Amino acid sequence: MPKRAWSTKELGALAALWPEYGTTWGGWVDYLPERTSRDISQHAYQLGLKRATGERTREEYVRPKPCPFCGAAPTVEYREGSWTVRCNYAPCPVGVATTAKSHRAAIAHWNRRRTHE
Ligand SMILES: [Zn+2]
Repeated sequence: MPKRAWSTKELGALAALWPEYGTTWGGWVDYLPERTSRDISQHAYQLGLKRATGERTREEYVRPKPCPFCGAAPTVEYREGSWTVRCNYAPCPVGVATTAKSHRAAIAHWNRRRTHE
Protein backbone atom coordinates (compact mmCIF):
# COMPACT_ATOMS: atom_id res chain seq x y z
CA MET A 1 0.00 0.00 0.00
CA PRO A 2 1.53 3.34 -1.00
CA LYS A 3 2.13 5.65 1.90
CA ARG A 4 0.92 9.19 2.07
CA ALA A 5 3.74 11.67 1.47
CA TRP A 6 5.12 13.46 4.50
CA SER A 7 3.63 16.91 4.93
CA THR A 8 5.74 19.98 5.65
CA LYS A 9 4.35 20.00 9.18
CA GLU A 10 5.29 16.36 9.72
CA LEU A 11 8.78 16.90 8.34
CA GLY A 12 9.22 19.91 10.59
CA ALA A 13 8.20 17.90 13.65
CA LEU A 14 10.50 15.02 12.70
CA ALA A 15 13.50 17.29 12.07
CA ALA A 16 12.93 19.24 15.29
CA LEU A 17 12.13 16.34 17.63
CA TRP A 18 13.96 13.24 16.41
CA PRO A 19 17.46 14.55 17.20
CA GLU A 20 16.34 15.20 20.77
CA TYR A 21 14.29 12.05 21.38
CA GLY A 22 14.96 9.29 18.82
CA THR A 23 12.46 6.72 17.60
CA THR A 24 10.97 5.13 20.73
CA TRP A 25 9.87 8.35 22.41
CA GLY A 26 6.22 8.40 23.51
CA GLY A 27 5.49 11.89 22.19
CA TRP A 28 5.24 10.77 18.58
CA VAL A 29 1.65 9.80 19.29
CA ASP A 30 0.89 13.54 19.53
CA TYR A 31 3.34 14.96 16.98
CA LEU A 32 3.22 12.29 14.24
CA PRO A 33 0.03 10.38 15.05
CA GLU A 34 -0.21 8.70 11.63
CA ARG A 35 3.39 7.41 11.52
CA THR A 36 4.72 4.17 12.95
CA SER A 37 8.05 3.99 14.74
CA ARG A 38 9.39 2.25 11.63
CA ASP A 39 8.23 5.16 9.41
CA ILE A 40 9.85 7.59 11.81
CA SER A 41 13.23 5.88 12.00
CA GLN A 42 13.40 5.24 8.24
CA HIS A 43 12.54 8.81 7.40
CA ALA A 44 14.94 10.24 9.96
CA TYR A 45 17.80 8.22 8.46
CA GLN A 46 16.77 9.20 4.93
CA LEU A 47 16.92 12.84 5.94
CA GLY A 48 20.30 12.30 7.58
CA LEU A 49 19.14 13.57 10.96
CA LYS A 50 21.66 13.26 13.75
CA ARG A 51 20.63 12.07 17.17
CA ALA A 52 22.03 14.32 19.87
CA THR A 53 20.90 12.73 23.11
CA GLY A 54 19.95 9.12 22.41
CA GLU A 55 16.71 7.18 22.59
CA ARG A 56 13.95 8.25 24.93
CA THR A 57 11.30 5.87 26.15
CA ARG A 58 7.56 6.01 25.88
CA GLU A 59 7.39 7.08 29.53
CA GLU A 60 9.72 10.02 29.01
CA TYR A 61 7.10 12.01 27.20
CA VAL A 62 5.64 14.72 29.41
CA ARG A 63 2.64 16.63 28.11
CA PRO A 64 2.35 20.33 28.99
CA LYS A 65 -0.09 21.02 31.81
CA PRO A 66 -3.10 23.29 31.26
CA CYS A 67 -2.52 27.04 31.51
CA PRO A 68 -2.27 27.94 35.23
CA PHE A 69 -4.32 31.09 34.68
CA CYS A 70 -7.25 29.92 32.56
CA GLY A 71 -6.99 26.12 32.35
CA ALA A 72 -6.77 25.97 28.53
CA ALA A 73 -4.49 23.46 26.81
CA PRO A 74 -1.38 25.31 25.58
CA THR A 75 0.17 25.06 22.11
CA VAL A 76 3.74 23.85 21.57
CA GLU A 77 5.58 25.42 18.63
CA TYR A 78 9.05 25.20 17.17
CA ARG A 79 10.53 28.22 15.42
CA GLU A 80 14.08 29.17 14.52
CA GLY A 81 15.71 26.79 16.95
CA SER A 82 13.48 27.40 19.97
CA TRP A 83 10.43 25.75 21.46
CA THR A 84 7.62 27.85 22.87
CA VAL A 85 4.74 26.64 25.02
CA ARG A 86 2.02 29.25 25.01
CA CYS A 87 -1.55 29.83 26.08
CA ASN A 88 -3.35 30.96 22.93
CA TYR A 89 -6.79 31.02 24.45
CA ALA A 90 -8.11 34.48 23.54
CA PRO A 91 -9.95 35.23 26.82
CA CYS A 92 -6.93 34.14 28.92
CA PRO A 93 -6.14 36.95 31.39
CA VAL A 94 -2.38 36.50 30.96
CA GLY A 95 -1.60 34.80 27.61
CA VAL A 96 1.55 33.41 29.15
CA ALA A 97 4.39 31.71 27.22
CA THR A 98 7.69 30.03 27.97
CA THR A 99 10.55 29.41 25.52
CA ALA A 100 13.61 27.13 25.60
CA LYS A 101 16.16 25.64 23.23
CA SER A 102 14.92 22.09 23.70
CA HIS A 103 11.39 20.71 23.61
CA ARG A 104 11.92 18.96 26.93
CA ALA A 105 13.16 22.12 28.66
CA ALA A 106 10.30 24.25 27.32
CA ILE A 107 7.70 21.82 28.67
CA ALA A 108 9.54 21.40 31.98
CA HIS A 109 9.62 25.18 32.47
CA TRP A 110 5.98 25.50 31.53
CA ASN A 111 4.93 22.74 33.92
CA ARG A 112 6.79 24.35 36.83
CA ARG A 113 4.89 27.59 36.38
CA ARG A 114 2.62 28.67 39.20
CA THR A 115 -0.09 31.29 39.18
CA HIS A 116 1.87 33.62 41.46
CA GLU A 117 4.84 33.90 39.07
ZN1 LIG B 1 -4.34 30.84 29.70
